[in-house]
Amino acid sequence: MKKFRQQFPLLGSSNPSATRHDQEKSVPGVNHAFVYFDNGATTQKPNCVIDSHQTFYQEYNANVHRASHALSAKATSAFEQARADVKDFINAKSSKEIIWTKGATESINLIANTLGHQILSPGDEIIIAVSEHHANIVPWQLLAKQTAAIIKVLTLDEDGRIDLANFERLINDKTKIVCCGHVSNVLGKVNPIEAIIAKAKAVGAVTIIDGAQAVAHFPVDVQALDCDFYLFSAHKMYGPTGVGVLYGKQVLLDAMPPYQLGGEMIKKVSFNQPTTFNVLPFKFEAGTPNIAGVIAFAQAIKFMKQFCHQDIMQYENLLIQHCYRALAQISQIKFVVRDVPDIPVLAFTVEGHHNQDIASALDSFGIAIRSGHHCAMPLMEYLSLSGCLRVSMAPYNTIEEIDYFITCLEKIIMASDSHLTVNGVTAKQHLQQSSALNSNDIIKQFAHLTGWHNRHREIMLLSKKLPRLASHDRHEQSLIHGCESLAWLVSRQDKQAIFYFQADSDARIIRGLLVIVLAAFNGKTAEQIQTFDIEEYFDKLGLMQQLSPSRGNGVLAIVEKIKALSL
Ligand code: PMP
Repeated sequence: MKKFRQQFPLLGSSNPSATRHDQEKSVPGVNHAFVYFDNGATTQKPNCVIDSHQTFYQEYNANVHRASHALSAKATSAFEQARADVKDFINAKSSKEIIWTKGATESINLIANTLGHQILSPGDEIIIAVSEHHANIVPWQLLAKQTAAIIKVLTLDEDGRIDLANFERLINDKTKIVCCGHVSNVLGKVNPIEAIIAKAKAVGAVTIIDGAQAVAHFPVDVQALDCDFYLFSAHKMYGPTGVGVLYGKQVLLDAMPPYQLGGEMIKKVSFNQPTTFNVLPFKFEAGTPNIAGVIAFAQAIKFMKQFCHQDIMQYENLLIQHCYRALAQISQIKFVVRDVPDIPVLAFTVEGHHNQDIASALDSFGIAIRSGHHCAMPLMEYLSLSGCLRVSMAPYNTIEEIDYFITCLEKIIMASDSHLTVNGVTAKQHLQQSSALNSNDIIKQFAHLTGWHNRHREIMLLSKKLPRLASHDRHEQSLIHGCESLAWLVSRQDKQAIFYFQADSDARIIRGLLVIVLAAFNGKTAEQIQTFDIEEYFDKLGLMQQLSPSRGNGVLAIVEKIKALSL
């Protein structure tokens, strides 16, 4: 798959963050600056997709469908050709059945807000699986509330696929909608959707398949599946963000009311007669679409077509097998479900380690994986997990990258605190250093550190300085919402109106960050706390790139709670 990888500039040696991890440069076949294992969230983009944007804006930028000038005609023709390419890609009957959306999320919302309201009566049932992404849960929850319909939740078998026996028990004449993921974004297992679609049809239910995690990995034929709707996002299959597809059978789309209203989706607008709507697919495409994105998406499809599906599947299977076997050798690794996944998406936890600590430590080695609930909180609840780690790969990933990942993971698991040194200072010595740090001490401590790897180590060492909070101080009121891990904060104020904070977290990385943040706020007045510039502080520490407080990584939530408590 060398030819595949070569087309992704971000993965090449010209990557601007190439100096991020400067410790282990010499393993052949691995770009230590960047190992990208978060493809389930979004894939990287090949040159043709990147170039397509530039060409469009430089050479034929115009709005589509509306104007009679040549530039608009060229844009419209490329835009509609992209629709035809998607039609061929999933083997739809007609381009009229391909609706452009912003992504899988909007596609599901479109169906829920149109067909959902049209067909549901109080007491009707919607079936979804416990493993669905939030995008395929929350729209149905709101719809059920609005229509007094009932949501029935499918459980999984031990391998992590939808349990067909359970489905057979749940489905009945009241089932009006069956909507499930083709592949879970956490478990990487292909669900038995053919059987689900057939059984749903037998009771006259509408079938909707969320293919967001499927389309990049194996061919999808909507006519062979015979589902009513199939949806996905371009950005998970090498295309741009902000473009999604809703496939729907023409007869159903024709009968559905429009979703959003405005320009483009109308036939005639009048104050004197009823406004009439455009034909398919335009009826569902109000306003100016993401023209450059849609055209670039066609390039992504063209890019994928260069490679035989069989070769991609074979290579991805090699990656999965290799990664699964290597992880299985590490005794602390606990797979979330049993057996090897069907697509290269692997979920696991590491016994004795917080998921966030593992993910952030891997990041310090230049490896991007995901930790948390993966927008599948009900699945985490079902599996009795607070979250897990997810490695998701693409054909541009390599066996060498997996080996490097495993080596780093083993190092992280093995590293006892006494082995952790920063510039020759052991954790123990570190602990003996002053415990009452202020922000200037922290700035001084970070001043000599180069690279995220060393700064990350320093944060982990600082975590040792945080006294643990008594269990009676860990309660709902002291909980910091917005942290990926659990974190608590309590405050007290002395007679001089000076604030003192104590905090704790179940993740070491957050405990280290708490030391940094508390050093800035402890012993200060409310006014000093309110006016302290946390962004500038993090900038001075060299942490803005990885831990900018304005990003949703927990730092902001901690700072906001401190500021709220001081008011
Ligand atoms: N469904 C699944 C299975 C997904 O994995 C995702 C994205 N993680 C979505 C839906 C939502 O996709 P988007 O954010 O592109 O709308």
